[in-house]
Amino acid sequence: MADRFDVVIVGAGHGGAQAAIVLRQRGFAGTIALVGDEPELPYERPPLSKDYLAGDKPFERMLIRPAGFWAERAVTLLPGTEVTTVDPAARRLNTAGGATIGYGDLIWATGGRARRIACPGHALSGVHCVRDRADADRMIAELPEVRDVVVIGGGYIGLEAAAVLTKLGRAVTVVEAQDRVLARVAGPDLSRFYEAEHRAHGVDIRLSSGVAAIEGDEGRVSGVRLTDGTVLPAQMVIVGIGIVPAVAPLLAAGAAGGNGVDVDTQCRTSLPHIYAIGDCAHHANPYAGGAMIRLESVQNAHDQANVAVQSILGEPAHYDAVPWFWSNQYDLKLQTVGLSAGHDATVLRGDPAARQFAVLYLREGRVIALDCVNATRDYVQGRALVTTRARIDPERLADTTVPLKELIRE
Ligand code: FAD
Repeated sequence: MADRFDVVIVGAGHGGAQAAIVLRQRGFAGTIALVGDEPELPYERPPLSKDYLAGDKPFERMLIRPAGFWAERAVTLLPGTEVTTVDPAARRLNTAGGATIGYGDLIWATGGRARRIACPGHALSGVHCVRDRADADRMIAELPEVRDVVVIGGGYIGLEAAAVLTKLGRAVTVVEAQDRVLARVAGPDLSRFYEAEHRAHGVDIRLSSGVAAIEGDEGRVSGVRLTDGTVLPAQMVIVGIGIVPAVAPLLAAGAAGGNGVDVDTQCRTSLPHIYAIGDCAHHANPYAGGAMIRLESVQNAHDQANVAVQSILGEPAHYDAVPWFWSNQYDLKLQTVGLSAGHDATVLRGDPAARQFAVLYLREGRVIALDCVNATRDYVQGRALVTTRARIDPERLADTTVPLKELIRE
């Protein structure tokens, strides 16, 4: 194995794989290494809490590219390789296995580790998170012995897992510390809709509830004790309380950051020749009013990969892509565009009871985001409202007889 590559990409997930793909698409002829600590070929993460967990999608169909692709494009894959330290002055990094790899440019695309819960019992067998294939496989292997599941955290991943496991016949309780699910990412209308949907499917949703301890029996989880003393029986617990960006080696090397690693609009970190992209990149986002944020989405990982590659190729671009995201729960397809945080008004378009509607988020009269449930046409047409920050009469926005694309033209 060569011990120096022109571009080394650390993290072989969505962002890392996309960076390698785009380097070759744009004609980059230098050497590329894609280094990842998972044993797998690069794969798509979203199905882990959706159709892969449900047993409806085989792992092979989640590969980002077929196995032969990487060799054909002369991308050196180094799976099962954890990078532990970075030496920016010598342009070298070290791996847990003791290898040293030199780089011309480095793209840091390590995503994040699932945040662990800090209560007693967190390390019992049967307590899971859903971040990688190994996590999902462990859950799938245990499921035959499981009747009751407690999901800690009512975010997208927790709710998706709850929907799948309910469909698989398990009794699921979701415990959420806030007074509504999806509180970090959506407005109250959407939260209430999803709470009602889950309850209608038999999920027990406990809001404003804290976890005091995970209880066990002979090393295996037996229940979850809430702060109000209630004990929920569980043979499986899923902790979905967010991620911690995997940036320790970069911060130790002197990169600016804290909540991830700070990057500029070209995805450059404060260290020379080192870029960061995806879940771990703390960046100023125009759709957040220029605030420094991290986004955890396939869109962001892909679009930042494109920007970092353009910087490396000397064709600098600035990251200003409109954020979008999706979530599948039961037969509900949620598609979001823009960022709703900071909205001061909402418009409901359509009827939640019909299970087809959109919530439009406004700030100072301008459309900043849409959450669309089974409403792909509004999602597609509403994108331009967000990118142009359109100022449109809320009554017109609510009128489902008028396609959103017509409002833009007015
Ligand atoms: P990742 O894809 O997480 O890749 C990072 C890789 O780097 C991992 O393989 C990690 O193990 C590796 N790594 C970390 N540290 C090191 C190190 N020191 N050395 C070597 N390798 C390292 N997004 C959506 O848009 N829609 C969805 O529906 C959706 N559903 C999701 C469901 C689940 C269960 C999960 C976990 C995520 C979901 N996401 C979804 C989020 C999306 O998958 C992430 O935003 C995306 O994967 C981020 O890409 P990334 O390249 O930044 O990180």
